[in-house]
Amino acid sequence: MMKLFRFLKPYRIPVIIVVILTFIQTLSELYMPTLMADIVDIGIVNGDTGYILQIGLLMLLVAAGGAICAIVAGYLSSQTAMGFGKVLRAKIFSRVESFSLHEFDSIGTASLITRTTNDVTQIQTVAFMMLRLFMVAPLMCIGGIIMAISKDPELSWIIVIIIPVLAAVIFVISSQSVPLFKVIQMKVDQLNRVLREGLTGIRVIRAFNRVDHEKKRFHEANLDLTNTAIRVNKIMATLMPVMMLMMNFTTIAIIWFGGIRIDRGEMQVGNLMAFLQYVMQILFSLIMVSMMFVLLPRASASATRINEVLAMVPEIKDAELMVRPEQRKGLVEFKEVTFSYPGAEQPALSNITFTAKPGEITAIIGGTGSGKSTLISLIPRFYDVDSGIILVDGVDIRQMAQKDLRAKIGFVPQKAVLFSGTIEDNIRYGKEDASGEEIRRAAEIAQATEFISVMEGGFRSEIAQGGANVSGGQRQRLSIARALIRKPEIFIFDDSFAALDFKTDAQLRAALKTEIADATVFIVTQRVSTIMDADRIIVLDDGKIAGIGKHKELLATCEIYREIVASQLSETEIA
Ligand code: ADP
Ligand code: MG
Repeated sequence: MMKLFRFLKPYRIPVIIVVILTFIQTLSELYMPTLMADIVDIGIVNGDTGYILQIGLLMLLVAAGGAICAIVAGYLSSQTAMGFGKVLRAKIFSRVESFSLHEFDSIGTASLITRTTNDVTQIQTVAFMMLRLFMVAPLMCIGGIIMAISKDPELSWIIVIIIPVLAAVIFVISSQSVPLFKVIQMKVDQLNRVLREGLTGIRVIRAFNRVDHEKKRFHEANLDLTNTAIRVNKIMATLMPVMMLMMNFTTIAIIWFGGIRIDRGEMQVGNLMAFLQYVMQILFSLIMVSMMFVLLPRASASATRINEVLAMVPEIKDAELMVRPEQRKGLVEFKEVTFSYPGAEQPALSNITFTAKPGEITAIIGGTGSGKSTLISLIPRFYDVDSGIILVDGVDIRQMAQKDLRAKIGFVPQKAVLFSGTIEDNIRYGKEDASGEEIRRAAEIAQATEFISVMEGGFRSEIAQGGANVSGGQRQRLSIARALIRKPEIFIFDDSFAALDFKTDAQLRAALKTEIADATVFIVTQRVSTIMDADRIIVLDDGKIAGIGKHKELLATCEIYREIVASQLSETEIA
């Protein structure tokens, strides 16, 4: 929790003002009962109207001063707390953006969302409460004790008894509830996860008639959260009545024993009233502290979760000494590369060695799960290799700035992702300063012009969230256009032609051929026809290279390749 407060730094001036104002406000509150005692014991007892008015006016001034301080302090603290939340969310977001895919896998998207929203809100609330209460409570408590004793030392034994009892009650209740608050945050995560799946998978859920099943799952997660929250609140709910009971008993005790002392002429009525108010102030400040005890553990659970994100060091970092490749060509070399996903028993890739040259097409073919996507995701350094080395233009990619490396690459992922915005915006995502002409050209090569021109707004047509209003093939062509506009040295197409019909596939490849003739091109595919004329075909099987060479060579030497070909092409096509 404390660690997070370093982000309050930009707000130190408002915080200092709040502290000062709160101090003044508390002093004014502590002064009021004494003034009142004076009115009663001096003004009323002596029948001195002038004195009563004079002190009354002073009371009004003190109260007004306290109120103004409270308003300004409240305003500044809410500004500070909200600003603090804003800073925290920004920090988390920018940290998450720097994560490699490993870190994403380890926390999970649902939890990252909860941590950025719900957890930050908890911290924000506590920051506000702290600014307002944390200052007031101790000051009020200590000041109240001093003032009460100064009014009547003899009655102070009541305070000596009540404070330990109250402290014990607070301790017992908070030790019951604190562990539950941690559980609540976990349940919120779980609810988010179920909700996310229910929303993103809605088509599958409908198609398989699993709506009831999902409803049940959601209901369970929902109920689980509710029950835990109710349990905590039940515990917390006992706190208030117990406090009130103790306060009332204290009041009775003070009036009872104070009455006896007044009767004996040892105490004045005004002093008794002031004493009573001071004791109430002491008890209220203790209740405030107890509220902090309620909020703090909850916030500290949230703080831990936020710190986990902030403290996570991205596994993939830029090297201390970065090397810039001398020539800009796009030569890619794999040397004995082995890679496994964390927690996996077998490496996803082992001993991969090959060279992909500029101006050539390197095709990667293999069954599902053979490691094709894994192989190409190593080139933009989404993951680091276990052993071996990947060189781009002669430099180990771990020694290059990630930015420089990725600037060389036009990546078309297997699952085309579009962002909300216009078609133009989505293509421009590849190159921020692209001109309208460049955008049109990229779309044309990607064979996207045809469907864009029939859309109502043309290039200005809005893409719905997640690209829901374009088909799979259209999505892929847009994401190809996005890669083309970068004019990179290395192109990576991960099964990017799969959603295209054969005709568009052929047209697209023909257009690409002239356009990206100088680039190093990787094409991952399941279709033999797509890659028959590639300069180099890598056949992957279970993460290993089963064969490497041209179509004809592989037909002669590679059994697995022959099987793939036989399953797709007719005899005449093979020859
Ligand atoms: P392909 O693209 O050839 O179908 P992939 O490269 O996607 O195959 O997957 C290769 C293997 O790695 C599979 O066995 C898959 O289960 C595993 N794998 C893929 N992605 C991950 C991941 N993020 N975490 C753990 N294992 C993964
Ligand atoms: Mg794949």
